Amino acid sequence: MTQQPSSPAATKPIRRVVIAGGGTAGWSVAAAISKVLGKILDITLIESDEIMTVGVGEASIPAMLAFHNLIELNEQEFMAATQATFKLGINFENWRDVKQDYFHSFGHTGIDHWTAGFQHFWHKGVERKLASDFGDYCLELKAAMAGRFAHLPNNKLNYAYHLDATLYAKYLRKMSESFGIKRMEGKINKVETDAATGHITSLRLDSGVNLEADFFIDCTGFRALLIGDAMKVGYQDWSNWLFCDSAVAVQTESVADAIPYTRSIAHEAGWQWRIPLQHRVGNGLVYSTKYINDEDAQKTLLANIQGPLVTQPRIIRFKPGQREATWRGNCVALGLSSGFLEPLESTSIYLIQRNVIRLLQMFPTNGISPTDVAEFNRQSDQEMEHIRDFIILHYHVTNRRDTQFWRDCSSMSIPPSLQHRIDLFRETGRVFRAPNELFAENSWIQVMLGQGIMPQQHHQSADLMGDAELSGFLNNIRSNVSKTVAQLPPHLDYVKRYANGQ
Ligand code: FAD
Repeated sequence: MTQQPSSPAATKPIRRVVIAGGGTAGWSVAAAISKVLGKILDITLIESDEIMTVGVGEASIPAMLAFHNLIELNEQEFMAATQATFKLGINFENWRDVKQDYFHSFGHTGIDHWTAGFQHFWHKGVERKLASDFGDYCLELKAAMAGRFAHLPNNKLNYAYHLDATLYAKYLRKMSESFGIKRMEGKINKVETDAATGHITSLRLDSGVNLEADFFIDCTGFRALLIGDAMKVGYQDWSNWLFCDSAVAVQTESVADAIPYTRSIAHEAGWQWRIPLQHRVGNGLVYSTKYINDEDAQKTLLANIQGPLVTQPRIIRFKPGQREATWRGNCVALGLSSGFLEPLESTSIYLIQRNVIRLLQMFPTNGISPTDVAEFNRQSDQEMEHIRDFIILHYHVTNRRDTQFWRDCSSMSIPPSLQHRIDLFRETGRVFRAPNELFAENSWIQVMLGQGIMPQQHHQSADLMGDAELSGFLNNIRSNVSKTVAQLPPHLDYVKRYANGQ
């Protein structure tokens, strides 16, 4: 086969960058890009005080720590500035069936053997009546349920945060400005493009300013002014699998100590989040307008919160899906402008920060290469599809049949990629993480078992263990988990001491 010459860079070198929008997406990319490439790029962020940020997005996953390391964020200062608490996972209440709960933790359950995951040994233990609940073998889960937390050596307790989204954007802004980014206040009213290349040339502001650049990052939220309106990149609608299209959100005063996990409580036509921060609680009901109207959704939420309201209920609409391309020409979309699944597994800030890292790995300093663009889009599409499948799993595999919403969720046809995972686990107890996939095997196992799939078999490695060996193995893990949890301090005490620099 003859070797094809590599295609030359399609544009001139990139020097001037404009970030449109200053929510979590805008300020995340601003902080990272100015930290890493600030010396060679001229970066401006434009945001409008007239246009509010979405104002939600308060639960994260452990990958946020890697992003924070990249921008050298000081954790104690960040926790004080954003009123953050620690998060060890999500308690899914009423999801498997009404009054049946399970926990998806950030930890690893038990100890794997190279031939077979821990679930095979646990399964054998259940069969021989030697094992207790799957979650009893997971440190993060037991610590969460006991309301305890501390940093442990070697990241033995894997965690993320609950944070105030508005304060987080402010904090990232402060960091970005210290790295030299320019911020401009103003409303974009026109995106100018070059008819020959289709590239964006400038953003026109209400004030008359015309902001030119070589490269544009669309962080304008659901408005998607650059990638959608100007570049005309279409949107793949996934509402045939993800029925929820709205949320009503409200903040309440804290009336109890903040717990180190998110509560996700399933209702008749959706689910409710409860996110405890240091100073208040974030609440919301995610629902499908096909099955419940706004008024009833709001009533359901208000009937299921605790403590006086800090804000009035606010309705947010969304369309689950993703842009047909995250990067087109000289424009990359980050955050809600690039798509949104729904908040169930708190993956949206992760996707922003993962794509920021990907963008930095492929940043077109020497000119935009179409091959890089294609690779960026391939990776981000694939990642989003794996997360989509993981979220659909929660809705589809359920014993709930009490409302039309749940009956439709359980009977819908699902992506073949997800059907294959479910079949494999049900028949063999096996799960394999795909390359470039966020959620590891143990996350899939916790959710599949939690939603009610019990494998029909286990690996023969577990059969080869005698009763004494198997029960010794299981009991040892469980007692180590209990001992470690007993030594941890109460979560909120630890947060307050830590955020105060002690
Ligand atoms: P926005 O916050 O909407 O910011 C848009 C920015 O663009 C603003 O600064 C605005 O001023 C600016 N802008 C827009 N138009 C113009 C214009 N014409 N001129 C100038 N500036 C303009 N994610 C999680 O990870 N965890 C969660 O728990 C979570 N919960 C969520 C719950 C709900 C109901 C929803 C809808 C989302 C949730 N998300 C969550 C997603 C998360 O909120 C977003 O990913 C995150 O806030 C990023 O938003 P953004 O920066 O893309 O957009």
